[in-house]
Amino acid sequence: MPTYNSTICRQCPYHPGGPLALPPTTRAHQPLAIEQRGSDVLIVARAPGVDEWEDGHPLISPNPQSAAHRLRKSWLRIGKNRQDYDITNAVLCYPGKPPSSPDGKPPRDNPPDAVALVQCRHWLQGTINSGRYRKIVTLGDEARAAVVACGLPSGVNVVSVPHPSSGRLFNSALVECPRSFWT
Ligand code: SF4
Repeated sequence: MPTYNSTICRQCPYHPGGPLALPPTTRAHQPLAIEQRGSDVLIVARAPGVDEWEDGHPLISPNPQSAAHRLRKSWLRIGKNRQDYDITNAVLCYPGKPPSSPDGKPPRDNPPDAVALVQCRHWLQGTINSGRYRKIVTLGDEARAAVVACGLPSGVNVVSVPHPSSGRLFNSALVECPRSFWT
């Protein structure tokens, strides 16, 4: 499991001693947990949001606008739930968000830092190597790039959707993904 005591994390800007570390009060835990249940389908999200960061687990936000909520609705349509999947993130620490947005709207979370993506790929590589995945579902360009950069075992099928907050994916498109996408 990822730990800040590792060489991997010590070289990452999101490490508590790094230049992009968030104040300790924003973090209730170590890096996000990787959920491995022996599924042959791995879901890789981009990075935790603030709800995931507080909870310590990926894709758990109750916010109706979140990727997690849309995934739950999509799984419900086909009789699945998170217990049917292994779940992780391309980056396992919260990237934070700017204090304000130029358009006056609530600011969105920062995209993951490029160096953090490279460092955290070591953990992702370990997750991929330790499972027997038939399929990897990626949410967002960064997640897909990180998975592809890991160099996949032969026979692994990678399917992707744009990040749900990218503006390139309508709510309904993710919710209505067909059964074949998730199985
Ligand atoms: S983002 Fe990944 S590599 Fe960086 S500190 Fe967090 S767990 Fe470690």
